[in-house]
Amino acid sequence: MNIIDKRRSLASSSSRSYRRRARSAIRNIAIHHSATTSGSAEAFARYHVNQLGWPGIGYHYVVDRDGSISLCHDLEVVSYHVGNSNSFAVGICMVGDFRTQSLPEAQRRSTLNLTRSLMDQLNIPVENVWGHIEFPGYSWKPCPSINMQNFRSWLREEGAELSPIPAPTTTYVAGARQRTLLTRGDQGDDIRALQERLDELGFNPGPIDGIFGPQTADAVMRFQRTASVAVDGIVGPETRRALRDFEHTGEQPEHGSPTDEPDEREEMYQSETRRMLRLLSPMMRGADVQEVQQKVGAATDGIFGPETESRVREFQRREGITVDGIVGPQTWRALDRMNGSSGIRYQRLLSVQTPFIRGEDVKRVQRALNVTVDGIYGPLTERAVRNFQRREGITIDGIVGPQTWRRLFNE
Ligand SMILES: [Zn+2]
Repeated sequence: MNIIDKRRSLASSSSRSYRRRARSAIRNIAIHHSATTSGSAEAFARYHVNQLGWPGIGYHYVVDRDGSISLCHDLEVVSYHVGNSNSFAVGICMVGDFRTQSLPEAQRRSTLNLTRSLMDQLNIPVENVWGHIEFPGYSWKPCPSINMQNFRSWLREEGAELSPIPAPTTTYVAGARQRTLLTRGDQGDDIRALQERLDELGFNPGPIDGIFGPQTADAVMRFQRTASVAVDGIVGPETRRALRDFEHTGEQPEHGSPTDEPDEREEMYQSETRRMLRLLSPMMRGADVQEVQQKVGAATDGIFGPETESRVREFQRREGITVDGIVGPQTWRALDRMNGSSGIRYQRLLSVQTPFIRGEDVKRVQRALNVTVDGIYGPLTERAVRNFQRREGITIDGIVGPQTWRRLFNE
């Protein structure tokens, strides 16, 4: 796998920087397309920094159409690409607009290999590899516009190792194996790729036939003039670079938008330690699914299927929260607020003790107060309890007794 390290060379803000996290905080891999027919890590970085005012490029990796991979950030960097889920997601962006373009084989293989290696490194299961659209709050966003069910099954395919990437067909881009100069009379796949690229950029090169004839030469010269490089009808290193980086002027740059920045609910997302659950294929399973089913009144088989999803939607509608069928932090919290036999009831006084008190009841209090849910009643939890008591106008002692418990859970 060929990865080009661009961490120090891409555009970045001189005044702002992204937050960092521990690697262990990473739970999801997010797959994007750029929603532009062309582009590069360099171009996206410029757009994100200069137009959106972000600290740096939004993605950790960019995979070009020829399969070459750019490393843009350390995995510890919390960059912007999936809004409130940024704090626990790694972003991979494939250059292309898959609403209208197909996914080239070299790019597909590279993206799969990269994703697999990240899953290994970060211990992330395949069911936590999500398309942008699969993250909470993004059901409206057609990104990455490939079938994620297929993508996950490719990841799962047996003989996990993919054969080496075949010689790239898009040889006009910088790469190892390629003819240095393309001129009139040349034939081959690299000429075909050149013609496709010219066509994509709106410089009609005539039939896409892999033959560098007069029409292709004309298109190359028109392109060279527009891109302000030497106009000689020959594709050398300078023209190659220009072809790679050229941005379609009429095209709306959709890769990365202000909605990918976190909002005030980010903290809630960060403190959530449970998995996000949703309808995926194959379906997600586990004790957490069962817990949700119990609370929303679905059959408790521990498998997140269509019925569970529709019950979750009904629940969300009743609660007046975003109706997306995804159990993310907001829905978990609403579920925690529910009474009923499955909820944890008041058991004992909670206060800072040596050693610290631990337990499910502590977790419940922590969730309700939006502090880290570790089940340990320490100073931070105590402080949150005091703040809560102050807001409620009850005795401020940092101890959860029956009164504070009742106020927290309406029980
Ligand atoms: Zn996206």
